[in-house]
Amino acid sequence: RAKEGGRNSFQFFTQEMQNRLDARMALEQGLHRALQRDEFVLHFQPQVDLRSGRIVGMEALVRWQSPELGLVPPMQFIPVAEESNLINAIGQWVLNKACATLRGWLDAGVPVVPIAVNVAASQFSDQEMDELVRSTLERHRVAPELLELELTESLSMVDPEASIALMHRLKATGIGMSIDDFGTGYSNLSYLKRFPVDKLKIDQSFTRGLTSNPEDRSIVTAVIRMAHSLGLRAIAEGVETDGQLRLLAAEGCDEIQGYYFSRPVPEQAMLAMLERGMGMDIAPLARSVQRR
Ligand code: C2E
Ligand code: MG
Ligand code: MG
Ligand code: MG
Repeated sequence: RAKEGGRNSFQFFTQEMQNRLDARMALEQGLHRALQRDEFVLHFQPQVDLRSGRIVGMEALVRWQSPELGLVPPMQFIPVAEESNLINAIGQWVLNKACATLRGWLDAGVPVVPIAVNVAASQFSDQEMDELVRSTLERHRVAPELLELELTESLSMVDPEASIALMHRLKATGIGMSIDDFGTGYSNLSYLKRFPVDKLKIDQSFTRGLTSNPEDRSIVTAVIRMAHSLGLRAIAEGVETDGQLRLLAAEGCDEIQGYYFSRPVPEQAMLAMLERGMGMDIAPLARSVQRR
């Protein structure tokens, strides 16, 4: 009996493993097809300057518009894409689409702002990344100032010197660079000071606790101060409430991104925001800063 039970649990285990493998294989094949059939789409989320109240940038966020599964969020396929080497092809698609979108808006006379594109760590180990950026910008005749790459702290861990050299070559193309999810990675400050980046993006986990958790508030304040003393801008991600916004303004945060101003939206909706010159009334913010 004991033997039988042991055998059954062994079979159960392998069946579960098999199911997981099957699901992963199906997802991988789905992503291959998605690339062939051009099923990815970009949504855009505005980034707002807290001194002017104007939209000064937007982040491109990829989604998979699957005929079978509907709109699939990136957290459900980016990790698999990273493990299966599909991330480079998807990353290239995203970069190309972002530049093509800018070109379309420029041709239509839309007052555009820079687009920030997420870069996966494995994409960054491709030493030709700077060539790819340069040729993509040229292909669409887009000025490098209109492109920003969002890097994560972890990308420098495999080969820090090679990563820093690549960052400098990217910087030389004229694009902007930021560190995404700042504070959640390895935060190796001796590397940070050597990164030729322009911006720190404060991770949304810190923004979330801003008004309720004194530790989160201390961290946010410290990151803003550190960014400024290194000559960088600070942007807070995941801003959802008026209270968070006021605290960030009071602490001198430069920009915000989050549902408070807008969720990520499809291309047409982002275009409408830019055309209308949509922004935020900062008068109440200025008053709350003065009161301090
Ligand atoms: P991220 O780069 O940190 O992007 C911010 C994420 O936070 C987005 O999720 C965005 O929709 C969400 N967000 C923005 N404001 C708020 C808010 O106020 N509250 C809350 N709760 N969430 C907010 P999304 O679009 O699902 O993307 C998740 C992650 O997937 C991204 O995190 C990024 O790491 C990755 N990702 C997205 N697009 C790409 C891409 O083109 N390439 C790569 N490599 N990764 C991507
Ligand atoms: Mg990002
Ligand atoms: Mg982030
Ligand atoms: Mg993230």
